[in-house]
Amino acid sequence: MKIPYVNLNLQWKKERKNLLKIIDRTLGEDKWVGGKHIEKFEKKISKICNTKYAVGLNSGTDALTLGLHLLGVRKGDEVITVPNSFVASVGVIVHLGARPILIDVLDDQTMDPKLLEKAITKKTKAIMPVHLTGRISEMLEINKIAKKYNIPVIEDAAQCIGSKHFGNPAGSLGSIGCFSAHPLKNLNAVGDSGYLTTNNYEIYRKIKQLKSHGMVSRDRIKSFGYVSRMDNIQAAVLNFRLKNLKKVIEKRRKNFKLYEKYLDTKNIYFPIEKKYQYNTYHTFVIQSNKRDKLKKYLNNKGIGTAIHYPIPIHLQPPAKYFGYKKGSFKIAEKQAKTVLSLPIHQNLSKKQIKYISDNINLFNKKFY
Ligand SMILES: *Cc1c(COP(=O)(O)O)cnc(C)c1O
Repeated sequence: MKIPYVNLNLQWKKERKNLLKIIDRTLGEDKWVGGKHIEKFEKKISKICNTKYAVGLNSGTDALTLGLHLLGVRKGDEVITVPNSFVASVGVIVHLGARPILIDVLDDQTMDPKLLEKAITKKTKAIMPVHLTGRISEMLEINKIAKKYNIPVIEDAAQCIGSKHFGNPAGSLGSIGCFSAHPLKNLNAVGDSGYLTTNNYEIYRKIKQLKSHGMVSRDRIKSFGYVSRMDNIQAAVLNFRLKNLKKVIEKRRKNFKLYEKYLDTKNIYFPIEKKYQYNTYHTFVIQSNKRDKLKKYLNNKGIGTAIHYPIPIHLQPPAKYFGYKKGSFKIAEKQAKTVLSLPIHQNLSKKQIKYISDNINLFNKKFY
């Protein structure tokens, strides 16, 4: 059996006819930057995220950059986030001239709220929890502390469109929610794309200008902005794929349930889904202290896996000046050595999940 970790080629084959029609129609509408498909997309997203506003952008990274900019993050400020995210979460802070203040994570890979209060200083301008894997961070506790110090929270929700926390969707749990529609995300465009959600009209109004050179009209700007608009054609593709999002999420959740049933957890760990969580399984991550050997073993059985992420951000070369070192974040560093993402995508069959699980169980029997 051959099971790739992701299978975008299969998605293309399934959607080819529809997508070609949509692309043909959209390109013929004479509106390539801006356009009705974006507005439609924004309406749908604000509904899913239960926020007043949503804005289509170029990427998840740009959503974070523009979001932080609008929260007033500038040179010399501090932003608190985690060391185990995708590098972009920290890169955006650096590019605004601010200092990333990192805190360690919980067993489930999300921000440890017990470490948050100690990390806050007079310079803290924003708190950025990362909802890794499609699981929302402990927002009740994070928001409580944020409120006490009057610091805005910006959600890095890149991996979790549709996830919920006590019934509230990702993107509605802070001042700003930032999402990615990169081809590898659950709701994916056919290139780079992203979007942002908020309930704050001022933020919404300013983001609309900021994403388009700061323009308030054709010839006037209020501030110097960025170029970070969602393409009309990407929006058209996303609107088509949005029809299927609920099914994609349900299938991924079902896949998790199957893993939960088949996997023997004596020698591996993965967090369960808590009662107040509704996870969308952008990734399904197990932790094994024989990770590298297991990865190779599965690869030999035709099973593709991935590691998100093998190097914690504070140990990347350009992060040296942050002042952290090996040992600064024990849990995140341990997880970098033990995490393994298994296939969880919507096109997997029950048989394939059984095959993957059986092989992991066999490996654990053999090598422990
Ligand atoms: C994908 C991702 C991003 C970046 O999104 P892009 O659309 O690729 O720019 C940021 N943070 C996290 C956690 C991500 O997974």
